[in-house]
Amino acid sequence: MKTQMPVLSLRKSLMSLLLILTIAISCQDEDQGVKNNTDANAIPETIELEDYYLVEGDILIPKSFAGENGRTEQASTYNLVSYSSQPTIRVHILNTSSNFLPAAWYTEIVNATNDWTNITNCRISFSYVTSSNNADIIIQNDGGMLPPNVIAGATPPQGGNAGAIINVNPDFNNGSISAGQMRYNLVHELGHCIGFRHTNWSQRGEQADPDGANTVPGTPTSDPNSVMNGGTANFSWNGFSSNDILAAQTLYPQNNLISNGLISPNGGESFHGRTQGGGSAIFQMQIVLNTAVFNPTQVAVDLFQNDRTYYYGVHNVVNGTVSFVSAFPGAGLNVYKIKVTDVNNPNSYDISDNNFQITGH
Ligand SMILES: [Zn+2]
Repeated sequence: MKTQMPVLSLRKSLMSLLLILTIAISCQDEDQGVKNNTDANAIPETIELEDYYLVEGDILIPKSFAGENGRTEQASTYNLVSYSSQPTIRVHILNTSSNFLPAAWYTEIVNATNDWTNITNCRISFSYVTSSNNADIIIQNDGGMLPPNVIAGATPPQGGNAGAIINVNPDFNNGSISAGQMRYNLVHELGHCIGFRHTNWSQRGEQADPDGANTVPGTPTSDPNSVMNGGTANFSWNGFSSNDILAAQTLYPQNNLISNGLISPNGGESFHGRTQGGGSAIFQMQIVLNTAVFNPTQVAVDLFQNDRTYYYGVHNVVNGTVSFVSAFPGAGLNVYKIKVTDVNNPNSYDISDNNFQITGH
């Protein structure tokens, strides 16, 4: 988010970003990374990769988007993340023997998703899932796909869903990448996944067409501190700029927290489960709603553990109660809150007022 990035054209509403991709090439967050790249304002050329077109430096347009009619035909389908998807954008970090990311990247992926989630009065929230099958965004090693001067690349939103892939190039700068640099670039790529284009797109000569690139209302047309500026692969995380935050809050405003919608767990409870490997406990979670003010038929459940968020899927509400058996992390800690969101009216949710405990035996 952030940043004023001219959000893509909200097109009259929020949609438009996609286009950006079309042709352009601009992101390049990466690129500048190359020490001998002295012309930061040059428009990066479109590079054809095996499965993508790399445009604007770090935006990956799947060739499947192009269809038989060419990319411009698809541009109009690009848009921001739909309202119903915003509060639970699920991230999976692909970690297989053939697609391995160094551990330092994991830490910064968590930090970067938390940076977005922690923006106040903004509806965007990332959580983690252990299976790629129900992930909205998969973060993975690029496997040598990206050019050596590109630190990472991301796909834009399509069909209301967040951009599906962030490819990370751990070999950038011969693998000499600081933690702050990882975090900066991951925050930037997540911004692309939720529809932000480069704040400095115009200065970089990126194309506004076909849908245009509208500046987010209230934000300036340039912001040197924006994390969404392109050509910044060598930058280190120093927080969002104030205009980045304003842009995020403008495009993805916070929804309505139901007051006193959650009776239990609302703080002070202790759930006792059977201890599993890795410090988790298995038990039947029971959530009780105050149906006088919050009476959904199906809810999505997220568990907060300090700054981490875990997604626990969609469950039916029966007589104001949600019950399901699952494994929960961190047995013995008193650091949990739960978030319950009405699946049919995602602007309605409640979160535990205070922490509860999970213990194992
Ligand atoms: Zn970029």
